[in-house]
Formats: sequence, structure tokens, C-alpha cells
Amino acid sequence: MPYVETYYGPAAGAEVQRPALRRRLEADVCVVGGGLAGLTAALELARRGRKVCLLEAERIAWGASGRNGGFVSPGYSASHKTIERQVGPDDAKSLHRLSIEGAAAVAANLDGLGVADVDRVDGILSTSRYEATAELQARRDWLEREFDHRLEFRTRAQMQEVLASPRYFQGLYNPQGFHLNPLNYARGLAREIERLGGELFEASPARALARDGASGVVVTDGGQVRAKDVVIACGGYTGGWAPRLRRSYLPIATYVMLTKPDKALISRAIRTTAAIGDGRRAGDYYRLVDGGERILWGGKITTRRTQPRRLGQLLHQSMVSTYPQLADLQVEMAWSGLMAYARHLMPQIGRLGEGLWYCTAFGGHGLNTTAIGGQLVAEAIAGDSDRYRLFEPFGLTWNGGLAGRGAVQGAYWAMQATDRIRERRLFQ
Ligand SMILES: Cc1cc2nc3c(=O)[nH]c(=O)nc-3n(C[C@H](O)[C@H](O)[C@H](O)COP(=O)(O)OP(=O)(O)OC[C@H]3O[C@@H](n4cnc5c(N)ncnc54)[C@H](O)[C@@H]3O)c2cc1C
Repeated sequence: MPYVETYYGPAAGAEVQRPALRRRLEADVCVVGGGLAGLTAALELARRGRKVCLLEAERIAWGASGRNGGFVSPGYSASHKTIERQVGPDDAKSLHRLSIEGAAAVAANLDGLGVADVDRVDGILSTSRYEATAELQARRDWLEREFDHRLEFRTRAQMQEVLASPRYFQGLYNPQGFHLNPLNYARGLAREIERLGGELFEASPARALARDGASGVVVTDGGQVRAKDVVIACGGYTGGWAPRLRRSYLPIATYVMLTKPDKALISRAIRTTAAIGDGRRAGDYYRLVDGGERILWGGKITTRRTQPRRLGQLLHQSMVSTYPQLADLQVEMAWSGLMAYARHLMPQIGRLGEGLWYCTAFGGHGLNTTAIGGQLVAEAIAGDSDRYRLFEPFGLTWNGGLAGRGAVQGAYWAMQATDRIRERRLFQ
């Protein structure tokens, strides 16, 4: 089963292909889904001495986890205000602390496991496309006061030194944020699970789930796993075999492109190794890769499942609208991936019934949140904590069906229109 062609993909041939499940297996825990959520849960359980088996329908990190932008920073897809409205100020703060812990857990895994070829670079710079000095400084002060999380404010002149675009105003630099090659990170986790005795199977989609006494039984085409606990972590690729989960999220696509190499041209626009996010609610995110030779540029979200024919061109237009000087920079490749979004925009982490767990819906903020989601489910199964309950208020709400899809697409277009109006006012 090949990986989708991405910037992260070329080394795929070098990675071992794991066998498909072709027998009956007994385990303490069966994890379904080999993205970062499933891998983290499996790793944390293996670290606690549990016999773990993981089933992946395609290849390890074949889904969003192996295709994403690679930005690692605290936070969720839902804003802090929205979370606070739902759970109150104290639990909202606890949830934010968990999101910080998730980002730190990724860093600790990188250091502790010595994952190869992950190309970690420190620094994430959030930019504003309108005058936002007071707003950004207030955010900086709040994060420092409440969470001891220090960000650095950048004036417009400072921003212009590193990002030569008339679009940008002020920014917030997060020195603890970082970016990496997510596919190689996921592969590093997979190798560690195996080193600890866990078994991973690829090309082994779960087809059905049954209960047999105190155990769950996960059935694949060629075999089955009997386990006391089952964790479903299939993200935006969760299919009809898990109907309750399938009905509770919307698969949302987002896109990334990689430019051809041209360091000299690129340095006329971008002069920082930090990853850049442009602060709009569904804005552009990009970073230099290959030592500044290329740009990896992501953006757009849509409920449309099919990949647009001219995906590269679409993202190229976004890049040139920010940096006209990059008009001649060509696109090498472009790809898409599916994220799982619940209507409340928060992760869905919890228990469906005795021994049946879910760990999904991490949206576009999945690198830190899968790290904490997997950890919390492992802690709960091992009886170490019930911290996962902080996510209970954001349950498996119905996704709204077709109307839900329409509402999400409509909300995205409305956000884009608001952003455009705000910017147009500035440039008139
Ligand atoms: C293009 C893109 C850019 C992004 N950029 C960022 C970013 O820069 N920073 C950030 O924090 N987040 C980002 N995200 C979000 C982040 O990638 C996701 O939230 C996160 O990877 C979700 O992980 P997951 O394990 O839940 O799902 P996935 O990684 O999608 O994994 C789910 C896995 O389950 C498998 N599966 C499905 N059904 C079955 C079955 N029946 N049996 C067995 N296996 C099954 C799939 O094959 C898949 O491998 C981005 C997402 C995309 C798509």
C-alpha cells in the first residue's frame, strides 16, 4: 500500500512494510488506527507494560498524521473563549494546560527516542493581517500570566524584516513551538512500540467489532484480535463500521503544496526558519524546508471530498497574493488530507462502553492534541488517571448530516468574507 506522494514521502521505500493480520490474536489492548492518536495511545500503553496490538488500514501515518504541516504548538481548534463558555474558566484552563503538555510530550519523545530524520526546527510565528498591537499584546500577557507560557511580540517593522509582504502587520513569536517532519515522527513512535513488544499490522482495516464476554473482538479481512480494551483512533477516515463515531464528526479536507527549490528567490520573501501561521481562522500556514531551498505551504479547508484538479495552482495563488515576488516560484507537488472535526471543534476522547474507547476529532490542531489524547486514554485504561473526563462535555454530538456539511462550508466562506472585508478596509 503506497503512501500519498508528499514532501515527507520519498523515504517511504526505506521503511519496513508491516504484515497484514492473518491470524487470531490475544492482546490486552487493540488500537485501531495508526495515526498519531493511535500510535501515542499504543506507545503509552506499551510503556505501562500492556500487550498492545495496533491495526492500520493502510500504512503507519498514512492519514492526516503523515501529510500535515508539521506545526507543533499548544491550543485546540476551538478558541479558548468557546471552551470557557462550555466548561467554565477553571476547566478551560485545565484543558489549555493539557494542550501545552501535549506539545511538550512530542518534544520529550523526540529527545528521548532520538527519532531520526525528523528535521525539528524551533519557533512558530503567528502573524496578523490587520493592525492588532493591543490584541496580540493582551494575548501575550494572558498566556504568560495564566500559563507561564512566554510569547514575544513583534512590531510591524520587525515582521517586515523577516516576511517581506505588505499583507502583514504585527506578530507573536512562540520560541517553544516547533515544526517537524510528522511522518518520520510517527514512524519513530511505531518503532518504539515494537521495541517494547507491541505488534503493528498494516493493510489491516477493522471491519467489525463484537463483544465476547469481558473482551472486545475486532475483525479484519484475514484475522481478529481479542482484547480487554479497544481504542478507536481513525480520525477523518473513520468509516461506517464504527457508526456512532462516524455520525459524530465531519471529514474536512485541507491542502498543502511544496515548491521547487529556489533559495535565492525565496529569500526575497521569507527570511526566518520559524513556521508561519497567518492568524486568520482558516488562514495560510507555511515554512521553509530543505534548508530554505523550498517552501511547504498549506491552507484552505473544504467539506469537498475530491481533490481539486489544480490544487497546486490554487495554493500558488494564495502564496502569490501574499508574496507577489514569488510569482515565478514553481510548484513541485501538492496533496490533501482529511481532518476530523466535531461540531464543537474539540477532540472527542472518552468511553463508548465497557472496554471501548475513542480518541479522535483533533481537527487542524492535531500534533499536540493527539499527543495528549493518546496519553489520557492510556492513563484511563491503565487505571492511572481519569483526566480524560475533562473532555466529557464535548461528547459525540451528531455531525448534522448533509446540513452539517453545508453549515461548515458556509461558516468557512463567511469567515473568509469577514477576513477579506477587514483587510480590504486596510488597503483602501
Ligand atoms: C494537510 C494537513 C495539514 C495539517 N497541519 C497540521 C499542523 O501543522 N499542525 C497540527 O497540529 N495539525 C495539523 N493537521 C491536523 C493533524 O494532522 C491531525 O489532527 C492529526 O494528524 C490526526 O491524527 P489521527 O491519528 O487522529 O488521524 P489520522 O492521522 O488521520 O490517522 C487515522 C488512521 O486510521 C486509519 N484507519 C481508518 N479506518 C481504519 C480501520 N477501519 N481500520 C484500521 N485503520 C483505520 C487511517 O488509515 C489512518 O491512518 C493537519 C492536517 C492535514 C490533513
